[in-house]
Amino acid sequence: MIFTILTLFPDIFHSPLQESIIKKAFDKGLVNFNIINIRDFAADVHKTCDDRPYGGGPGMVMKIEPIYRAMELVESIYGRPRYVLLTPQGRPFDQATAERYGKLAHICLICGRYEGVDERIVGCVDEEVSIGDYVLSGGEIPALVLIDAVSRNIPGVLGNEGSVADESFKEPLLEYPQYTRPEVFMDMEVPAVLLSGNHEEIRKWRRKEAIRKTLLKRPDLIDKLAPTEEDGKFIREIMEEFPE
Ligand code: SAM
Repeated sequence: MIFTILTLFPDIFHSPLQESIIKKAFDKGLVNFNIINIRDFAADVHKTCDDRPYGGGPGMVMKIEPIYRAMELVESIYGRPRYVLLTPQGRPFDQATAERYGKLAHICLICGRYEGVDERIVGCVDEEVSIGDYVLSGGEIPALVLIDAVSRNIPGVLGNEGSVADESFKEPLLEYPQYTRPEVFMDMEVPAVLLSGNHEEIRKWRRKEAIRKTLLKRPDLIDKLAPTEEDGKFIREIMEEFPE
């Protein structure tokens, strides 16, 4: 999968894309990155990419023409990618979107700065995506968040394909609690069932604990779960543990 990134700050991407899982995915040829400096597409000698907002007000607005010219170049080489504008006004990014993007051949992420991009960009992109209800200084960190979450869903990127299958949000559930050695840390013991070697009991324990965690930390998710008969039993048992 190709990730093309249009940004005014290309250096932000260098270290995060050269570490760990993403680096391995790149080395295996599963992902590739084009990091394009929008400033290279500015028409004037000063390489201007922002200007004052029409109607007045504070700050500067990113001009549309350099971005559009960068998009034209990308399309002349690869054809049209899926264009995603990072903006706090976009649809909230979630696991389902990460999985959907993981099936694309080429995605182009457009990073805003300053007061954002001239509104006419909206007509040129396919989607507007937000990574949460807060305002960051630029779209570069949101783009990295998206690249990381999407890459995990590309077959072959994670060594153990099972890792994605059980993770939080695969269903509207948080992942079950995980433990590793030592068996006892400051009087806190690893649950005995995990040491039992009984795979069916471990499966049931993990399912119940995933439901318990979700009920405690993200009860809003449980409403979206289509519970099996077994899930219903676990939910009732957990609820009975909490007297009114
Ligand atoms: N004035 C804009 C507004 O109120 O909607 C905010 C602009 S923000 C300071 C600059 C850039 O950071 C945005 O154009 C966008 O690319 C990026 N950005 C900031 N917060 C974001 C978020 N929560 N999700 C995605 N991108 C974000």
